[in-house]
Amino acid sequence: MAKRDYYEVLGVPKGAGADEIKKAYRKKAVEHHPDKNPGDKTAEEKFKEAAEAYEVLGDADKRARYDRYGHAGVDGMSGGGPGHYEGMSMDDILRRFGFDSDDIFSEFFGGGRRGGGGFRGGARPRGERGTNLRIKVKMTLEEIATGVNKKIKVRKQVACTTCNGSGARDSSSVDTCGTCRGSGVVSRVSQTPFGAMQTTTACPTCNGSGQTIRNACNVCKGDGRVFGEETLDVDIPAGVHEGIQLSMSGKGNAGAKGGPPGDLIITIEEAPHEEFTREGNNIMFELFVNIADAAIGAQVEVPTLDGRARIKVPAGTQSGKIFRLREKGLPALQSYHRGDLLIHINVWTPKKLNDEERRLLEKLREMPNFQPTPGKEDRSFFDKVKDIFG
Ligand code: ZN
Repeated sequence: MAKRDYYEVLGVPKGAGADEIKKAYRKKAVEHHPDKNPGDKTAEEKFKEAAEAYEVLGDADKRARYDRYGHAGVDGMSGGGPGHYEGMSMDDILRRFGFDSDDIFSEFFGGGRRGGGGFRGGARPRGERGTNLRIKVKMTLEEIATGVNKKIKVRKQVACTTCNGSGARDSSSVDTCGTCRGSGVVSRVSQTPFGAMQTTTACPTCNGSGQTIRNACNVCKGDGRVFGEETLDVDIPAGVHEGIQLSMSGKGNAGAKGGPPGDLIITIEEAPHEEFTREGNNIMFELFVNIADAAIGAQVEVPTLDGRARIKVPAGTQSGKIFRLREKGLPALQSYHRGDLLIHINVWTPKKLNDEERRLLEKLREMPNFQPTPGKEDRSFFDKVKDIFG
């Protein structure tokens, strides 16, 4: 099946601004979210199609490439291709773009789907859930290639050790909450565009703890948590890219009065590399060769992400030629696919000449084989682009 135009998928004009594109994607995500269309395969396909379109149009670089070369310009990059979201839940996909599923849900249920206290139905509610902790982690291309375990020291709210997070001075200072009679929750029925819905929210009196405290802990003043330092053990999988968000459940700030902790949200930053640039899962190296090596042919050493490799520059190699070292690029996130190392040839023209060099070149400039006779394969820039991205 032919791929639909990404602008058409999101229903925006070609000249749409970034905000308009983001809004349009958000609208499609709400419309086709599988939780709203349970068991509907078409909705799921449409949800993924919109995600794929947004992954490209929501990124200035990828969008420019798409505008210029169409699907061929972005296929095989981190956006696009059927099965690209294989193994990812709908929430993972939303999170990838910095959206929170509960945010999206608030648009059509008029409230998060978890209920006010930040818990899902069934679990016994306790104190208020901790907030999410957001950190940025800088990754080099070498680290992205293999995945990495980092120990990261953060300032965050941790459970108070004096009262064990309860917030009470001692066990006799704790009473059962009169509003919810210790259950921690209150129920109410509300009208939504999808019919009557019973929502269960945290008890406003005790914030879901089911208990009220008569005498507060001296150290945390009854909150159950204090500011502290913690060294987090963070596993970053291979294949991440700039801006991607990973979430680690329960590693965020401690909850109030023994409530569950929030999540740790990690935003990946990509450190610029001295020798390589990244194009999706491929990496690109600019190799400069002198005119003699390009004309006669040479063995040349190039850097790779895990060492060095030798490549053969054949006789008669033109500037602009791209050599591909298969699977020497970056692994794709959550798949076995691996990108390539692309070696872009630049034939070096001397910027200054001594007398002897000048004499030799004067002789060569009139020689028959030094007169340019480019064939089609030497000038088609577009073919080269297809070779990289196709
Ligand atoms: Zn305390």
